[in-house]
Amino acid sequence: MDFGLNSDGVLCFHGWICVLNDENLRQSILREAHGSPYAMHPGGNKIYRDLRELYWWPGLKREVTDFVTRCLTCQQTDGQSKMVIQLLEDMLRSCVIDFRCSWKDYLPLA
Ligand SMILES: [Zn+2]
Repeated sequence: MDFGLNSDGVLCFHGWICVLNDENLRQSILREAHGSPYAMHPGGNKIYRDLRELYWWPGLKREVTDFVTRCLTCQQTDGQSKMVIQLLEDMLRSCVIDFRCSWKDYLPLA
């Protein structure tokens, strides 16, 4: 018997709480796991691992991935970090060019 009721009368599957056919409940669980003020927007794999400790529903992993992909905060942060990376790359490139021009100054033993 894979399914059963836990002590709270909640349907369980192999000990996980089943969240079946309740889109609102699933969304609020995902919001809690990902977008709550304490969750700090973890990535899909981490949420999936955390949720699998407690919950199970068909297509859980896909819904977690979808949720993270659609998260507006994550999209904005993603854009910002791409900008920062670009900036760092530019700085690094100019440093390397600088370094090459005067490499003897940096390597007195060469
Ligand atoms: Zn997010």
